[in-house]
Amino acid sequence: MREENCIFCKIANGEIPSKTLYENDTFRVILDVGPATKGHALILPKKHFADLYELPEEMAAEVMKLAKKMAETMTKKLSCDGFNLVQNNGEAAGQTVFHFHMHLIPRYKDDSQKEKLGWTPGKPSHEELENIRTMIVE
Ligand code: 5GP
Ligand code: ZN
Repeated sequence: MREENCIFCKIANGEIPSKTLYENDTFRVILDVGPATKGHALILPKKHFADLYELPEEMAAEVMKLAKKMAETMTKKLSCDGFNLVQNNGEAAGQTVFHFHMHLIPRYKDDSQKEKLGWTPGKPSHEELENIRTMIVE
């Protein structure tokens, strides 16, 4: 399963060279060319799945196992102070390459990013939270 014009299919399968940190039959882990911090990497499945919704459940489990392994190794080797896992799905969520990938982002006390990546906390009422809970669980 490979999509003709997908850059991550080409990178994951070695048709386009990349700075590879790890590779097995299922995944390739590469350095991001537009890193948020030093060592920012991406886990790419070798098969094409556009996003989390398309990713088979067993592969989702494998991605998380690999993310843990990479985070441990990278933390040791880079001596980073923390680690973010980020995974975007859909344009509305900031996804720009539509081949599933997990971001591995080493964090440093003095790095240039906001400590907490991503969002401004809202202030929903108890009623709003309850309405949302109902929408999801019922
Ligand atoms: P997204 O916004 O879809 O979650 O993340 C896409 C990521 O892929 C970005 O961080 C971007 O820098 C990275 N990226 C885009 N094109 C390439 C490429 O050709 N090679 C590598 N190594 N990373 C890429
Ligand atoms: Zn692809």
